[in-house]
Amino acid sequence: MTLTETILARAAGKARVQAGDNLWVKADVLMTHDVCGPGTIGVFKREFGQAAKVWDRQRVIIIPDHYIFTADSKSNRNVDILREFVKEQGITYFYDVIDNPDGKWVFDSSKGMLQRQYGSHYAGVCHTALPQKGHTRPGEILFGTDSHTCMAGAFNQFATGIGNTDAGFVLGTGKLLLKVPETMHFRLEGQLQPGVMAKDIILHCIGEIGFDGATYRAMQFDGPGVASLSMDDRMTIANMAIEAGGKNGIFEFDAKTEEYVNHRTRLNGTKSSYEPVMRHQDEKFVYEMTLDLQRLEPTVACHPDPGQRKKARDLGHIKLDRAYIGSCTGGKTSDFLEFARVLRGRHVTIDTFGVPATPETVHDLQTARWGDRTIWQILVEAGVQMTENAGCAACLGGPVDTFGRMNAPLKCISATNRNFPGRMGHKESQVFLASPFTVAASAVAGRITDPREYLS
Ligand code: SF4
Repeated sequence: MTLTETILARAAGKARVQAGDNLWVKADVLMTHDVCGPGTIGVFKREFGQAAKVWDRQRVIIIPDHYIFTADSKSNRNVDILREFVKEQGITYFYDVIDNPDGKWVFDSSKGMLQRQYGSHYAGVCHTALPQKGHTRPGEILFGTDSHTCMAGAFNQFATGIGNTDAGFVLGTGKLLLKVPETMHFRLEGQLQPGVMAKDIILHCIGEIGFDGATYRAMQFDGPGVASLSMDDRMTIANMAIEAGGKNGIFEFDAKTEEYVNHRTRLNGTKSSYEPVMRHQDEKFVYEMTLDLQRLEPTVACHPDPGQRKKARDLGHIKLDRAYIGSCTGGKTSDFLEFARVLRGRHVTIDTFGVPATPETVHDLQTARWGDRTIWQILVEAGVQMTENAGCAACLGGPVDTFGRMNAPLKCISATNRNFPGRMGHKESQVFLASPFTVAASAVAGRITDPREYLS
């Protein structure tokens, strides 16, 4: 069995399963957020009754992150609904934007879009917050009402996005009927060269198979090349499995996984026991690809879908209006550090927006120093508009006052994960997906640029 099959077999209480089997599996964690949470709660109440209780209040994790720092009252109301549900159900893990459980968040115009407008519980983008807050564990099953839930596959777990109806059912029962996906095998060998990042790996893979090439399939990443990838790198890769239509992305368990998970569960006092899954000799794949990381170059997914792969060095003719770094995929501390490595001592020539994924990243960037400057200062001095309000922001457009949203038909290079038409706002805008290195170099040049020009 493959890694995915092994986890699903265990969760279904079976010795063996194979692709195509339909199984009832037990959920370890259900995550929801402000966009899909209210709908999920509605389904749950309609199907299980107004007085129903969730199956396990410690396993339901609620993370508002999408439409948060906006004056749009309907978006604000969504977070209020989550807050009321958490109180009613006694849910343990709710990362609210305010500290007062009886309060309501209100946009403070004196702070504007750049200054912090959240309390001490807020955790930022759900997929980056889940591991930071100690909720991702090897061998487990994570369901989330968001397509990029697959990011947690970096931690050797089965993690997948589900719709509100399924999530309402999981809320009531802790179970879900799943078809076991076929597995595609991506064997990584060698090491990345300077200027090339994990984002380039996944953009290359999606370019190879197309944006629907992994539809309802597991994407398993393993091989000797994985050892050199950090947990952040693996998260970037697993996150974008859905951009090829994948059911999930998954990595092998190793010492780095163990160190990260043990540290985070201890730090947050969350469940610390888990049982990783290992590879079996009898694993069967429907597709095999071996990728020599050494040969990869800075890669871009061009408008209008994540499968439109090109080399950055071949796109110098594309002039840009905007650059953006942020999201679950590209807004981690390590992403900003690489971004800053290019921008240090330089200045952007186009509008450039920086949105950390989590408050922890804001803290990291405001405390880590290169010489006498913090990373945050280096970025601001380079002309990047940095907001302390960690969240999804313009990654998926959002209300018109969303920080960094494209309200006109602009061309943007972005460290985010999705570039279908209208994704970041205006439906005639164009989004080019790239690594933080490539986004930074392009922000300086004002056109798509191979970052190795700036790093040599
Ligand atoms: S940052 Fe973007 S991709 Fe990630 S959860 Fe938010 S909207 Fe989705």
